[in-house]
Amino acid sequence: METKQEIDLSVIYNIREYPDIKSGRCDHCRNAHFKSSIKNMVFLRECRHCGMMKTI
Ligand SMILES: [Zn+2]
Repeated sequence: METKQEIDLSVIYNIREYPDIKSGRCDHCRNAHFKSSIKNMVFLRECRHCGMMKTI
C-alpha cells in the first residue's frame, strides 16, 4: 500500500489515477451526495459536502 495521501481540495482528481476508496463515496469526507457537471466533454463530480472534485 502506498502512504496515505492528503487530499487537496483545489485539485481536480482523475478517478483513473485516484479510484474511490469506497465506491460512490467522497474520499475526503465519505459523503455520498455529489453535484455533477460536464466540462470539456469530461464528467466532473463534486462533493456537495467538502467540494472535492473528481473527473469520472
Ligand atoms: Zn467530500
